[in-house]
Amino acid sequence: MRFEKVKKQLGFGCMRLPMQGSEVDYPALTKMIDAFMSKGFNYFDTASVYIEGKSEIALKACLVDRYPREQFVYTNKLSSSLFQTEEEIRPLFEKQLQACGLTYFDFYLMHAQNKDNYQKYKQTHAYETAYALKAEGKIKHVGLSFHDQAEVLDRILTEQPQIEVVQIQLNYLDMEDPKIQSRLCYEVCRKHQKPIIVMEPVKGGSLVHIPLKAQDLFDQLGSHSYASYAIRYAASFEGVMMVLSGMSNEEQMNDNLSYMEEFQPLSRQEYSIIQQVKDIIKKANTIPCTGCRYCVEGCPEQIDIPDIFTCLNDVHGQQIDHVKEKYQTYTFQKGKAKDCIACGKCEKTCPQHLEIRKLLKKASWYLDQ
Ligand code: SF4
Ligand code: SF4
Repeated sequence: MRFEKVKKQLGFGCMRLPMQGSEVDYPALTKMIDAFMSKGFNYFDTASVYIEGKSEIALKACLVDRYPREQFVYTNKLSSSLFQTEEEIRPLFEKQLQACGLTYFDFYLMHAQNKDNYQKYKQTHAYETAYALKAEGKIKHVGLSFHDQAEVLDRILTEQPQIEVVQIQLNYLDMEDPKIQSRLCYEVCRKHQKPIIVMEPVKGGSLVHIPLKAQDLFDQLGSHSYASYAIRYAASFEGVMMVLSGMSNEEQMNDNLSYMEEFQPLSRQEYSIIQQVKDIIKKANTIPCTGCRYCVEGCPEQIDIPDIFTCLNDVHGQQIDHVKEKYQTYTFQKGKAKDCIACGKCEKTCPQHLEIRKLLKKASWYLDQ
């Protein structure tokens, strides 16, 4: 491992945190951070756009103000929605440091790079600004997080040799996915000799809520959680320095710590079961929405797309009346599937490349009548 300060391979992903209504549950988060740190883990990942800025503020109160700076590794990001011009980047960065209560970030990532975003970051000299901030000691390592096809990643890493780490989506379901291309992106990182940070190892929880048949297969291996296989799968790849897990409660945290404290790569038998589980999930044909909510922000009709997809996923496994009831609760005072005007804004931001407009039409057919 190239970064000495990074202690273990499990990172605390702070896009999802324990919540009390719309606010972060500080006592619960504090307990989780203490448990995490006490087992020797120290890597935290956030962004100003996570939970509308509440993630950074909560981390300040529960981590930064309570632990010596040298004990934790802090990653933040430059998100595209927060700047338009080169002149805005430095003030935004300083504001981030201030909100987080820090004088430097250990890692600073160019957030959600894809073909279009990369153009914007290049035109606004975002990469150069980050390298300059590194020279000033305000960033220790510059990296990027990535959502696009492998050839785009190859081009970025060729043009930006100073990038030190790459965050990619990698999980056992997306390895050969033609749009996400986890395996190809992984290979590009290896080719450029960049340490890899894995995001979405359990695909926003989809690899926990798996079909019953798949559960039976894992249950044959013992009483380990379904998440444990997904996280160990990602951590078993050579060159993966960190696997991020979004943990929303103590139970998830304790489960993760139990198998990542003394990490063991997957056995041959476990790989073979995962292959079978993968086939079952693919056949079940559920919408692979991770609940990241990137699509929701720009929707002119205020449609809560991920919540509607949760309902649509339930249509085939649960009684339709129950699903319709849930749908009414989820869409109360918000846009419904039928309100979609097909502007396509949401599809431009979806890291899973979902055909949201088509899926909403389907949801409307089942749920709006
Ligand atoms: S296509 Fe529909 S769901 Fe997507 S942003 Fe436009 S109105 Fe909203
Ligand atoms: S539809 Fe796409 S962008 Fe929206 S929450 Fe799901 S995965 Fe995220």
